[in-house]
Amino acid sequence: MQNFTLHTHTIGFDGKSTVAQMITAARAAGFDTLGVSNHFIVYPEIKKSRMYPYAVRGGYSAIYSDSFDSVIEKFRIHYNELRQLQSESQANILCGMEVDFFPTRTWCDGFLRAIDKLRPDYTIGSVHFVYYDGNLCNMHDIAKAAPTVRDKMLNVYWDNIAAAATSGLFNIMAHIDLPKKVGIGRDDKWCDAEMRAVDAIADAGVAMEINTGLYKPEIYEPYPSARILRAAAAKNIPVLISDDAHVSNQIGRQFDTAQQFAHDCGINNFITLQNLLDFSRKTR
Ligand SMILES: [Zn+2]
Ligand SMILES: [Zn+2]
Repeated sequence: MQNFTLHTHTIGFDGKSTVAQMITAARAAGFDTLGVSNHFIVYPEIKKSRMYPYAVRGGYSAIYSDSFDSVIEKFRIHYNELRQLQSESQANILCGMEVDFFPTRTWCDGFLRAIDKLRPDYTIGSVHFVYYDGNLCNMHDIAKAAPTVRDKMLNVYWDNIAAAATSGLFNIMAHIDLPKKVGIGRDDKWCDAEMRAVDAIADAGVAMEINTGLYKPEIYEPYPSARILRAAAAKNIPVLISDDAHVSNQIGRQFDTAQQFAHDCGINNFITLQNLLDFSRKTR
């Protein structure tokens, strides 16, 4: 059984528990290492996007920034706090980040600067947004678009996942079939797009997470789906289980169920923490 959890969010970003509360919960769940991976989301136009007013009303707009400098400063203070807690509590705490990848030269340069200054232990690549026709769209915006436009956006989504994996900037790819959270991208016609992304992940040697945050009565499965996991198994992609905890009581949620699900899909390459961190050091 996996004895670490690396995809977690805390107060000051969009989580609801302190790092200390997360450490306590991780210990109670039997984990010997807690990685904290708050959102790193920088995009010039982000405060003009449709979703931004919702984020302000929902109280989580602090995770969105239009400036690398301000996010680097925020993470510098955050990582200092994590390293301080690490020495005080004797806990194994890792400094991670869940990064929104944007496929532009400017973005990559800005992110490389951030990595150089912050030296995270690992990075999780993700795509929560698609830039399409002059608008930065989240999954809800994509779901609301007219069918033909929606399909084009979903193709951009999958291309971005593949590009993120290929970029060499990330150790882990997060919730790769995120669009299903809004009920889209599940039909068979998306197999080819998914496989392009899975191939890119396999070629890059990046790990893929099984994210248990989606388990709900109406859709009782994690990210990614069985069809993606079977493809990952065929390509021997290293896998880890993530809870994507935003509150301390979500630490380790449904890990047993996800482990069984992965096993049923033929996965047996579960990445060790050591291999993941070695990979991280090697690529920097
Ligand atoms: Zn995410
Ligand atoms: Zn997350």
